[in-house]
Amino acid sequence: MVKILYIEDNPQNMRLIRKIVTSAGYEMIEAMDGKSGLAATMRENPDLILMDINLPDIDGTEVTARIKSDPQVAHIPIIALTANAMIGDREAYLSAGCDGYLAKPVSRTELLNTLAHFLEAKSLVAARH
Ligand code: MN
Repeated sequence: MVKILYIEDNPQNMRLIRKIVTSAGYEMIEAMDGKSGLAATMRENPDLILMDINLPDIDGTEVTARIKSDPQVAHIPIIALTANAMIGDREAYLSAGCDGYLAKPVSRTELLNTLAHFLEAKSLVAARH
C-alpha cells in the first residue's frame, strides 16, 4: 500500500486531508510537528510527504532541507501544503527542496492529481533501476 506522511499541526487540516487521501486508497501517517515528522520519515520511509510550512517547532522548509540532505530519504517527494500565497513563497519552498507546492485550501481533485503525478514519476524511476 502506498504510504503518505502528512506533517501538519492543524487538526482540521489533518482531518480534511486524511479523508481525501484514505478515500483514494492510500495509507496516511500523521505527524504534528517537525521533529516527529523527521522521526516518522526515518521510521516509516513513506512514498511521499505532504508538508505544512508553519509548524510549531521546526519550520517546514527546514524539515524539508534536513530530509533532502539525508541520502537515505532524500528521494522521497515532498509537496508543500501552505496557506502562504505570497509572491516568492513558492520559490522559497522549491529552493528548500520541496518537489511541489499546493496552496490551501486544497481541492480534492488537485490533491489527488498531484499525488498521482509524483507517485507515478517515482514508480517509473524505480522500474528503470
Ligand atoms: Mn501549521
